[in-house]
Amino acid sequence: MKTVFTASRLYTPTEEIQHPVVVVEDDRIADVWSLAAQAVPTNAKLIDFGDTLLAPGFLDIHMHGGAGLDLMRASPAELPRLGRFLAAHGVTGYFPTTVAASLDDTCAALERLADAIEAGELDRANGDGVQARPLGIHLEGPFLSHKRRGVHPPEYLVAPTVPVFDRLWQAARGHVRMMTIAPEIPGAMEVIAEAARRHVCVSIGNSDAEMPVARDAVNAGARHATHTFNAMRPLDHRDPGILGEVLTDDRLSADVIADGIHVAPPIVKLFLEAKGTERAVLITDAISATGMPDGRYQLGPIEVEVKEGKATSGSSLAGSVLTMDRAVRNVTQFADWSLRNAVRAATLNPARAVGLGASYGVLAADASANFIVLNAAGEVLKTVVRGRGA
Ligand SMILES: [Zn+2]
Repeated sequence: MKTVFTASRLYTPTEEIQHPVVVVEDDRIADVWSLAAQAVPTNAKLIDFGDTLLAPGFLDIHMHGGAGLDLMRASPAELPRLGRFLAAHGVTGYFPTTVAASLDDTCAALERLADAIEAGELDRANGDGVQARPLGIHLEGPFLSHKRRGVHPPEYLVAPTVPVFDRLWQAARGHVRMMTIAPEIPGAMEVIAEAARRHVCVSIGNSDAEMPVARDAVNAGARHATHTFNAMRPLDHRDPGILGEVLTDDRLSADVIADGIHVAPPIVKLFLEAKGTERAVLITDAISATGMPDGRYQLGPIEVEVKEGKATSGSSLAGSVLTMDRAVRNVTQFADWSLRNAVRAATLNPARAVGLGASYGVLAADASANFIVLNAAGEVLKTVVRGRGA
């Protein structure tokens, strides 16, 4: 089945196309061109989005839940509710992210998440409607620094070893696509090398590392950094530490929580200028409370209190209630970035960071037909997943 979509503009996102024509066949994009180059084909169903902007669906590579669901506990049958909530905010693919918990609980969660990912691949996910799909798992822990653990419970932090990593990998049936690890913990370098060998995006974070150790981690295979500035040794201009490495090494992409709470807006701007339009990645680090009223929520084994948009456990921030569409709009305000570059940090850049760059994060021929319809203010009007939803 062939469908043609038109609008007034399109972000690939590396280019902007005026009066775009997007041809979708089944669940893939067959072709994209400008009306100036070629007319609309007549042998297909036409959907005209009028004076709007098309962009790839957002990809959130760090999120713990939303719409009341905590991904450490949710059953695969509950995930469509989260998937619909995310799609309403422009997200078409996401990485369920673990928090430090007992290894047994973590493995049970990983098995459930692997089930959900495999059901999504076969398009057999339960429930109707347009849904964001879980594409791979992000292990945030258990190999984190005690000193920079944030809200991850200290009793569940584990020394990194290849056998423990392999146990998690087996429980997830190979669906681990990303892992946050503190490189300074003894044993970390070996696990970084092994995870990189298995094509996991190794991300340094929750770390008190000094700069040379962070550099060694990159040499061992790390390619990304997790929620830059949060749960990291602070930047000192004479002793730069891990942040000196994250902000200056072009081999690393890095992500940031642009809610204006985790990192002050001028520092978000500094981060974006350091990593640039090619390497800056937006994440939400959202928890189950996202899209829900203030109150008490669970984040794996952690009790979280949410009040006026701020999620805390004790004196620490405990994830966020940020949505990706808001993060994108925030970046246009905090840093004066164009909407196109802000969209890029939520689409192509995360897709490339985790090795999904050919099918996800782009609105171009051969990509999966996941895209969003935005107004000029960057608000999501419509989400299309696998060619459906318009
Ligand atoms: Zn997190």
